[in-house]
Amino acid sequence: MKFIEHNLIFTGLLRERHITKYCIFHHTGGGWDTAEEIHEGQIKEHSWFGIAYHVIVYPDGSAHIGRPFGKCDASCFGHNEDAFSVCFIGDFDKHAMAPEQVTTGIELMRWACKEYPGIIGIRHWDLYETSCPGRSFQDRIIMEGMMKVDEPEIKLTWKEIIKKVSNSPEKWDAGITAAVRLAQDDGNLGDLEIFRWLPDLIEKVYCSKK
Ligand SMILES: [Zn+2]
Repeated sequence: MKFIEHNLIFTGLLRERHITKYCIFHHTGGGWDTAEEIHEGQIKEHSWFGIAYHVIVYPDGSAHIGRPFGKCDASCFGHNEDAFSVCFIGDFDKHAMAPEQVTTGIELMRWACKEYPGIIGIRHWDLYETSCPGRSFQDRIIMEGMMKVDEPEIKLTWKEIIKKVSNSPEKWDAGITAAVRLAQDDGNLGDLEIFRWLPDLIEKVYCSKK
């Protein structure tokens, strides 16, 4: 999931969030078109410390960071301590969501399920008396986003594996030394014959571990 950082400055100290029970979906309902506009607008209109939402999804489907992800929300009365929030730019009582927003919404919900296990996707109006996120909000964002997707089996080549684990060379050193010693005991070292099957072995050991 790719997020665009805006480094917005908040006017007060945001509290840490310790529980993440809901992923609440909103729309702007018109008026504000960027993360900065929402940020300024909510400071002026509500005297909040800044933008209420953690993520803002633009009509082109790009996902932008509002509030730092670990901080309390400000988007839904009664749930600011236990929710992560996503706001789509637009007024979905007046027009449809852009298809790009729906795709990103599903992707976001899937990301949130991994990031916060047990999280429940929900519309703002399910928790509070409001018309947000609008009649044309696509519920498939929540339905499809929360559906279990079978992850493709991880298959890496030995070159990719070495790149991945090259941060802990001490393990490699021990592994290769042990393999060489084994081959020596076997009288099978020859002219470093061992290195011919080492890549195969690396792939087998690494990929079967997952
Ligand atoms: Zn809302």
